[in-house]
Amino acid sequence: MNIERLTKTVRNVPDFPIPGIQFKDVTTLFKDANILKELSDGMYEMYKNKGITKVVGIESRGFIMGPLLAERLHAGFVPIRKPGKLPAATYEISYSKEYGTDSIQIHQDALNADDIVLLHDDLLATGGTMLAAVELIKLFHPKKIYVNFLIELEDLKGRELFSPDIEVESILKYDI
Ligand code: AMP
Repeated sequence: MNIERLTKTVRNVPDFPIPGIQFKDVTTLFKDANILKELSDGMYEMYKNKGITKVVGIESRGFIMGPLLAERLHAGFVPIRKPGKLPAATYEISYSKEYGTDSIQIHQDALNADDIVLLHDDLLATGGTMLAAVELIKLFHPKKIYVNFLIELEDLKGRELFSPDIEVESILKYDI
């Protein structure tokens, strides 16, 4: 992966959705066919030897690379969604975000103890969303949990929330 080119391709939108947030817009990565392929190939290389059985994507920007990667890894794809969207019995957890609070849900039959799980989202900010997702996944007692982001906002130190048994990787790193 050409990290410098990928880093420059992400669009920074100041003061969205509220003043003070430097919003990292990943649509400028995904609309470019060559960059989309580069990301898909690069992420496949990162995880191809880990024995991943399920890729879990967080609504909604985790639903773009998540299924692409699942197909490449010959793994299943599982969505984590906002409340009221999943139709069958769910587990739910609430958490605080860089802006506001939220809850997420997963189907109770989505995973099992034999799974090796790769959790994916577009961006690590405070880490609250992904930490909540990890707590949901732990309810299933999978063999191993990997965590992946396209983007990490390093200054917010979200990575420090995760215990050492969780392998956290991000592709592009920004100060803010
Ligand atoms: P957090 O829980 O603070 O790590 O926030 C991560 C979630 O909020 C991800 O799903 C991101 O899509 C979104 N998010 C938070 N901050 C930003 C930002 N500066 N730019 C783009 N998305 C963000």
